[in-house]
Amino acid sequence: HYYCRQSESIGSTLLGYIGIDTIIEQMRKKTMKAGFDFNIMIVGHSGLGKSTLVNTLFKSQVSRWSSGWGGEHKIPKTVEIKAVSHVIEEGGVKMKLTVIDTPGFGDQINNENCWDPISKYINEQYEKFLKEEVNIARKKRIPDTRVHCCLYFISPTGHSLRQLDIEFMKHLSRVVNIIPVIAKSDTMTPDEKNEFKHRVRKELETHGIEYYPQNEFDDDMEDKNENDKIREAMPFAVVGSDKEFQVNGKRVLGRKTAWGVVEVENPNHCEFALLRDFLIRSHLQDLKEVTHNIHYETYRARRLNDNGGLHPISANNTQESNL
Ligand code: GDP
Ligand code: MG
Repeated sequence: HYYCRQSESIGSTLLGYIGIDTIIEQMRKKTMKAGFDFNIMIVGHSGLGKSTLVNTLFKSQVSRWSSGWGGEHKIPKTVEIKAVSHVIEEGGVKMKLTVIDTPGFGDQINNENCWDPISKYINEQYEKFLKEEVNIARKKRIPDTRVHCCLYFISPTGHSLRQLDIEFMKHLSRVVNIIPVIAKSDTMTPDEKNEFKHRVRKELETHGIEYYPQNEFDDDMEDKNENDKIREAMPFAVVGSDKEFQVNGKRVLGRKTAWGVVEVENPNHCEFALLRDFLIRSHLQDLKEVTHNIHYETYRARRLNDNGGLHPISANNTQESNL
């Protein structure tokens, strides 16, 4: 340590500016050129406003299965998985956003094991990535289809979580970053909302469900303090909308309710802005890193172990994961 410190000061006092800090700019340029993948999955029974919320988050029609399809949309008999990708560009940075919708989840009479197709999809993406990684002729950049984040929509009942909610999050929180949100929170009064949030947090804790950002992956005290605040505010009670209203001379996204217009992006009205800032502005990179370093790593270690430990799976191995 002592030597480190000393050479540090020599660097800056005797040699003058070296330019190590330009690595930030170099990285920025590379990232801008390459762009990045971000894959978000939405789960919850139909009509909870999943498509609307994702569209509100990314301000465009990225999720095409909203009720806006002119009338009733049919409920599939089993859970279907549908992925749609869009390239969104902002400030010269390209993001390939894939929204993975799971219509049919929770809509059946018997919802037993209805998370199976979802967990299968998630594991298949890990498998795909692993196969690319062990390939002798590796791609310079492996396309990343792994699910970085799973938004789980909780029904705004005001009572408690359903058994299905608990089962789903329990099973899936081990393989993917789960972010629970309370859907359509404009249907609750502020008191009901706070009460419900509190109860949901308690229930999640009782059942030992670790949602994102997981305690155990906080890097340092600064991280922990920041994430503690987020965890205490979760699950975010959100409102989505694609309709604009005139409020105090400004056009805002909102929903008309008996109490007036609920402004989606106004933090005094709902927690949409909190969710957006958390998901996109502060934790997007971390969601990707936890997916890669924890969830994918767990899958990879298990797969290579099952495979006899020493020999990696061959590139043209067509055997599917046994999950
Ligand atoms: P999905 O089936 O979960 O994808 O739900 P949709 O996004 O298609 O929305 C279903 C219906 O709920 C539509 O009529 C939406 O306008 C409405 N909706 C969406 N978000 C909200 C919300 O935050 N609050 C209320 N009250 N209604 C919403
Ligand atoms: Mg939908």
